[in-house]
Amino acid sequence: MFKRFALLAVLALAACHHPAETEAKNGRIDQARLLAAENDPDNWLAYGRTYAEQRFSPLTDVNDTNVGQLGLAFSVPLDTNRGQEATPIVVDGVMYFSTAWSKVMAVKADTGEVLWKYDPKNIGAKGAHACCDVVNRGVAVWEGKVYVGTIDGRLIALDADTGKPLWSTVTVDQKEPYTITMAPRVVHGKVIIGNSGAELGVRGYVSAYDAETGKLVWRFYTVPGNPADGPDHAASDEVFAKFAGKTWFGKWWEMGGGGTVWDSVVYDADFNQLLIGVGNGAPWNQRARSDGKGDNLFLASILSLDPDTGKYKWHYQVNPGESWDFTATQQITLADLTIDGKPRKVLMQAPKNGFFYVIDRSNGKLISAQPYVPQDWADRIDVATGRPVEKPGIRYADKPYFLYPSGLGAHAWMPMSYSPKTGLVYIPAMHAPITMVDDEHYERHIGRWNTGTHMGAPPPPEHAKEAAFKGWLIAWDPVKQKAVWKIERQSAWNGGTLATGGNLVFQGDDHALFHAYDARDGKELWSFNAGRGVMAGPITYRVNGIQYVAVLAGYGGSMGMARPAPWMPTPPPNGVLLVFKVGGAATLPPVPATAPLPFARSSDSFSEAQLAEGQKWYGTYCSICHSGPVNPNLPRSQMATDAKAWNAIVIGGKLSDYGMISFKPWLTPEQAESIRAYVLELAKEGAAKEAAAPAAKS
Ligand code: CA
Repeated sequence: MFKRFALLAVLALAACHHPAETEAKNGRIDQARLLAAENDPDNWLAYGRTYAEQRFSPLTDVNDTNVGQLGLAFSVPLDTNRGQEATPIVVDGVMYFSTAWSKVMAVKADTGEVLWKYDPKNIGAKGAHACCDVVNRGVAVWEGKVYVGTIDGRLIALDADTGKPLWSTVTVDQKEPYTITMAPRVVHGKVIIGNSGAELGVRGYVSAYDAETGKLVWRFYTVPGNPADGPDHAASDEVFAKFAGKTWFGKWWEMGGGGTVWDSVVYDADFNQLLIGVGNGAPWNQRARSDGKGDNLFLASILSLDPDTGKYKWHYQVNPGESWDFTATQQITLADLTIDGKPRKVLMQAPKNGFFYVIDRSNGKLISAQPYVPQDWADRIDVATGRPVEKPGIRYADKPYFLYPSGLGAHAWMPMSYSPKTGLVYIPAMHAPITMVDDEHYERHIGRWNTGTHMGAPPPPEHAKEAAFKGWLIAWDPVKQKAVWKIERQSAWNGGTLATGGNLVFQGDDHALFHAYDARDGKELWSFNAGRGVMAGPITYRVNGIQYVAVLAGYGGSMGMARPAPWMPTPPPNGVLLVFKVGGAATLPPVPATAPLPFARSSDSFSEAQLAEGQKWYGTYCSICHSGPVNPNLPRSQMATDAKAWNAIVIGGKLSDYGMISFKPWLTPEQAESIRAYVLELAKEGAAKEAAAPAAKS
């Protein structure tokens, strides 16, 4: 039987013309080259530079003695002010990167000359399914092809020379609220891709596609489906039948269960395993999802899978019975550390829950876990069992719980870096508490946010002091499990980091500065005003003997949609690619000053009942995307003054190509009108406040 199968496989290979083969001269990365990427510092060949995803570059031409002379070499303008989160790839003098709405560009890495641009022409309405802006975190390059996952769930292979599509595969059910924002990874000729959408109600999985043809090779579901539907015929069937399926209760499948794989996938060549970071439950509230019982595997877990078959090897769950939008999707970084005098092959992760985990990657056993930020949900992580010792009340069953860190994360998608030279991990960390309130009368709204909690509840008065958001760049010793130095920031959202052999750490912030610090003590050595928030992971590389540092600038993401940012122009300027070198003398085109639009004025009058109704629906459907600087501020939108225009958008879906879908499935025209009433009320209050304090505009 096996022999016959093998023979067929050989025949199939011989007959295969590789329809998607490319003769591209650029982007020549193969398995051997990626495995040896550590010794190729002129290039940045993969998302985290090498498979280990340390985001450390050994280059020393730019260093602590000359970084003060770092200047802009060139910049490349981008086409939108939506969030820019991508880490570029640099191969042999060409830089490839994705931008908001999953577009892709190739530029010359030493001049910025644009070689090609690719627009996947997304289904615009899918923008409404993106929990956290229409961002994209990067491309993968492999054997002359550039791979990108799109916001509407496709995986596309482009010719590295021309940007022409070679194949395109739909990886999700596009009727469901799936999106893709993560960077694909390539290993053993397979492109690995997951998806997002747990807030809106999907079932998570990760898939491997043949890099040449785009054919599905294997799929691993991270949560079980409806038992009545039988097995999935997927790589995950066995482990769900064996033990993982028994960790679920209730009717979780109605809301998908969650567990999306939306960011971290790492190949560990030492043990030939793929390490996969798995996200939160759908809905968040475990009471609403799984009768408040069970570990709910593999939510909030790191999964080890065989890269060729997707077969389960081991898992480590950071939050059993996840109930807070805690995830283990954050960056997984591989390292060899000496712990208690012994060399250990470890993975390191700083997930949302605020503990820094060091895990033995030979077997998934916890070595140590300590909080890297203030936290109030666990007494400790028990090293013997690997499980957290939860504080009483954190499951907010009887009364609200003021939680920090929250589901925004002590650390989100922003890449961290690890310098083997200093032995420190540089974490963009956050303090962003929220009050968790059980939604006792929770109803599903498929395709919109489904958390099973009341969002936006004010902090209880006794916690008012701790409620203010802030952030830190933390230099963390993973062996001693303690901070060596810290830089505090006034806002939570701070950018990805890059560590270099030149004793430097680079990081952007949401107040438009891009900084270089001394990696040993955190002393600021240089900064650059980028004119817009800098959140993405920086990179460094060398072309013709000159070292460059590059980063995408552009504010957005979940904070860009949900939190006001009064320090930046409204609307914010479009994004830009920034590339620096020592002695660089280019200048950025100035950011035009913009004044906020005037508040909407209308003589329409509404009843108290309408206003109350509108407040409820505004909180349910609008505020999550319209409270930050990225999307229109509704009280300042002139659409609110015109009942017909409002209805054409909210019910008629007139702007759905831009991501503002029709809310007809969830709202009646009367309810939509009540939102307009409430928005006009907000406008009235805002205008009155502005008139009372005209000087407080900045
Ligand atoms: Ca989430």
